[in-house]
Amino acid sequence: MREILDAIQSGASSGDIAALPIPESYRAAHILKSDEQMWAGVASKDKDPRRSVHVGDVVTPELAPDEVYVAVMASSINFNTVWSSIFEPVSTFGPMARLARESEWAKRHDQPFQVIGSDAAGVVLKIGSAVRNWKPGDRVTVHCNHVDDQDQSAHNDSMMAANQRIWGYETNFGGLADLAVVKANQLMPKPEHLTWEEAAVSALCNSTSYRMLVGRNGARMKQGDVVLIWGATGGIGAYATQYVLNGGGIPVCVVSNADKAQILRNMGVEAIIDRSAAGYQFFTDDGAHDEAEWRRLGKDIRALVGEDPDIVFEHPGRQTFAASMYVAKRGGTVVTCAATSGFMMEFDNRHFWMRLKTLIGSHFANYKEAWEANRLIAKGMIHPVMSQVFTLEQTGEAAYQVHHNMHEGKLGVLCLAPEEGLGVTNPELRDQLGDKLHRFRR
Ligand code: NDP
Repeated sequence: MREILDAIQSGASSGDIAALPIPESYRAAHILKSDEQMWAGVASKDKDPRRSVHVGDVVTPELAPDEVYVAVMASSINFNTVWSSIFEPVSTFGPMARLARESEWAKRHDQPFQVIGSDAAGVVLKIGSAVRNWKPGDRVTVHCNHVDDQDQSAHNDSMMAANQRIWGYETNFGGLADLAVVKANQLMPKPEHLTWEEAAVSALCNSTSYRMLVGRNGARMKQGDVVLIWGATGGIGAYATQYVLNGGGIPVCVVSNADKAQILRNMGVEAIIDRSAAGYQFFTDDGAHDEAEWRRLGKDIRALVGEDPDIVFEHPGRQTFAASMYVAKRGGTVVTCAATSGFMMEFDNRHFWMRLKTLIGSHFANYKEAWEANRLIAKGMIHPVMSQVFTLEQTGEAAYQVHHNMHEGKLGVLCLAPEEGLGVTNPELRDQLGDKLHRFRR
């Protein structure tokens, strides 16, 4: 990989990069099928990604005609890195075995290991014979929607594709590695003003929040909408907050400590709820819902902005879902993409139907949505929310921090990039944006 890194850093031509030999193996953060049962009987919070994420060499798979090899300069930790590494809610080796049954090329994904990671920024090294729009040497970010576009169901909205998967979570050969294998239809241009690690952290979370709030498949936020955002400095929440501010909405941001509240103030948010200070107990000790606490949250929101939320940006799941469904305005929308605290949810349907609310399930984003979300980053209108950077060897530690909610925004991971701060090709835009690019840095 040394030769590849040298070529990238010296600005080698497309032809020179195309001529580089692809190594037979590469360094990757991976989990092992043989570890699948290692957490039997262990509580979720005690499952430690530092024990299940391994960093070492894996064999380079052959390249399919519609794929490219990307030399990964940097990647990021997503919450799905946590899910893979603790084998919850299911082991990801099952989805990969099913993928392997779909085609000859797909068989490569069924291995005793999985290279994890659903984000990457880097350089195209080699393209498959059917790839048209990209060439070796292109600087790219990778989105994680893995779709077979020969299937009719993949058209219209590719998130509706019968064989839609999340790359690096439900597929092998993901981004937390020195090399990645991606479909050409996952590539997007790297925002020029960003470093490799800044460019690597956004695609998954930013695109998800874009679809949930802005794109036509989500809640379609409009000017003046009050939007309640749980986890407003977390991975998806910090992009959601930016979309609401940009789009003329009124964010009501929930976080769990004063430092996070300060980050939000620096971003220009006025209505902030510290859920730890408020001490909401949406469930009684015997596990029943406590409607009085939903009402207390609703009163707190009204005290801040004078009305109920038009939209609730929901993802904590079981712990907050019933409250979210309750506090949404009459005719309002709850849009959800996750259930971090538990996926079996209950809510009081009377408040839902009598007040004519809408619930939208949302999942990642199609190529067009991811492209639009990336375009906003490239234009300096949305910013990466990276707070810390780790090395590839520290992937387990970084996933541990996300698992235990010890982070803000996103955690970057250096792969081939030897240090932070490299990869900027538009320093003018970077200077213009100034501190906005560093609001999440610790
Ligand atoms: P993060 O951990 O970065 O942020 C989540 C935030 O939610 C935390 O910072 C925390 O903020 C808040 N939170 C956590 N637990 C609770 C709780 N019980 N009650 C209230 N707030 C809580 O994760 P991400 O933002 O990256 O992802 C969030 C979820 O969304 C994950 O489950 C992830 O897997 C899922 N996801 C789904 C996607 C999809 O395409 N379907 C895409 C991306 C993410 P604080 O403590 O400050 O309140």
